[in-house]
Amino acid sequence: MAADSETGLRLVLFGPPGAGKGTQAQLLSDELKVSHISSGDLFRHNLRENTPLGLRAAEYMKQGLLVPDEVTIDIVLDKVLSLNKEEGFILDGFPRNIHQGEVLEEALQGRSRSLDSVVYIDVPEDELRRRLEGRYSCRECQAPHTVEAGADLGKCQRCGGELYQRDDDTPEAIRKRIEVYREETLPVLEFYRGRSLLTEVAGVGAVKSVCEAILTGLGRVPK
Ligand code: ADP
Ligand code: ZN
Repeated sequence: MAADSETGLRLVLFGPPGAGKGTQAQLLSDELKVSHISSGDLFRHNLRENTPLGLRAAEYMKQGLLVPDEVTIDIVLDKVLSLNKEEGFILDGFPRNIHQGEVLEEALQGRSRSLDSVVYIDVPEDELRRRLEGRYSCRECQAPHTVEAGADLGKCQRCGGELYQRDDDTPEAIRKRIEVYREETLPVLEFYRGRSLLTEVAGVGAVKSVCEAILTGLGRVPK
């Protein structure tokens, strides 16, 4: 991998909804000491603050659709470009279509940078549905948790915050999100394969072993 020693790693975490991008991004950002930028979290934050952007995004999110590029691209690139040139980052949930991939590439080129790697977390579709239907998120730190049907909700394992179910983790929205992923997002994989940036990891098994597999794939020795 071509990361120069002076700069933090610049990564994209790629995969279907429910692949564990958010969970792995948090672990990796702690481990690699780089910022975690989640497009979904940015939208949910705006929604909690009732900003016009948050309210607009929520209409699409609830239905499992992509938020339009003219809204999404600015808010994500603003974050990326607010980092110092030397700082690394983990993008989680962006890019979700080819156009977003191209715009990200141009923005990085504009500061003489490029991505170091795109980690593809692969999970079979029936497992995705199972996870998303049982998914609860922390109100405080956004960490996702899987709660088996009928089990006690409990508190966030990371910070003790309250858990809640996202508006877009309903069965209809889940079906739509997986369809949108197949049609609009999956082509991004080939875009990055063509640039020889892919690190592919199986996203099933324990959270920690997936994280170790990612670090190994990136040429980092897991602790
Ligand atoms: P998940 O990966 O579980 O689907 P996210 O938190 O990444 O969840 O995204 C939630 C929703 O936010 C998406 O279904 C979509 O509506 C919107 N969203 C997030 N990132 C993008 C993006 N890059 N482009 C368009 N919409 C996005
Ligand atoms: Zn928490």
